[in-house]
Amino acid sequence: QAKAAGRNTMRFYDPAMQAVVAVRAEMNADMRNAVREGQFLLHYQPQVDGAGRVTGAEALVRWRHPRRGLVAPGEFIPLAEDNGLILPLGRWVLKAACNQLLEWAQRAEMAHLTVAVNVSSRQFRQRDFVEDVLSVIQETGANPHKLKLELTESLLLHDMEDIIAKMTALKAEGVSFSLDDFGTGYSSLSYLKRLPLGQLKIDQSFVRDVLTDSNDAAIARTIIALAKSLGMKVIAEGVETEGQREFLASEGCHAYQGYLFGRPGTAEALQESALQIIV
Ligand code: C2E
Ligand code: MG
Ligand code: MG
Ligand code: MG
Repeated sequence: QAKAAGRNTMRFYDPAMQAVVAVRAEMNADMRNAVREGQFLLHYQPQVDGAGRVTGAEALVRWRHPRRGLVAPGEFIPLAEDNGLILPLGRWVLKAACNQLLEWAQRAEMAHLTVAVNVSSRQFRQRDFVEDVLSVIQETGANPHKLKLELTESLLLHDMEDIIAKMTALKAEGVSFSLDDFGTGYSSLSYLKRLPLGQLKIDQSFVRDVLTDSNDAAIARTIIALAKSLGMKVIAEGVETEGQREFLASEGCHAYQGYLFGRPGTAEALQESALQIIV
């Protein structure tokens, strides 16, 4: 009876779910050659200071899929983390971002720009992650002081001593670190003070309703205060309205990222916005 039910579950499988599974399998197969075939590209989203000046950009990967068009990272990064392709892809992203840094370094009006690169937990945990990053910096000639790596809290479930050693080694070379999506993960305040982090990123889920939800306002306020008392910088992500920015500024936030200042776009678009004060 149970067996029959099991088979029936398969037979009555939700067709929408079945389609999702099929797409995943196809994407998995397609991804295998995508790095080699140059199907990935980076978009850049401005990061601005309290005066609306662009200080740098976050590099966000996209996949120009031969049949599906431009695919967002939410649709393939989790797959790449599962199938291991995040390692070559992550290295490609880092290299492309460092090449962009070098290009900006050669133009006086762009030379101050930083680039933030997202690093998956699996990528960071690789034994030779530090050597990998340093070799990309060397190969490209990028200034490590302009490179920020964004880590997520999920990483912090792993060997803390190893994480601290890697961060410390890269920091010694000038690379800095931000904790992305802060407040959504497995926060333990005791690790925060042990990590050589330069910056916390307030997750956009707290920013979205910061004006209407007093809990979100309290969380945003607390993260800003926490960063300050730990001697870290703080940046709010997902800032879409002037009201949100005003509130965050009144709480002491000094850096912002979000549609209010610019959507992720080409390096050329970022350069244009870097030439003006945005808001
Ligand atoms: P994230 O690092 O938290 O990046 C912020 C995401 O929020 C981006 O989505 C960005 O386009 C979006 N965003 C920015 N401003 C706003 C706003 O004002 N409103 C709203 N609603 N959204 C905003 P995207 O580009 O789709 O990236 C999603 C996630 O994929 C990233 O979240 C990051 O976790 C991951 N990702 C992107 N590129 C890479 C990469 O090169 N390597 C790795 N490992 N992960 C990446
Ligand atoms: Mg990020
Ligand atoms: Mg984020
Ligand atoms: Mg996110």
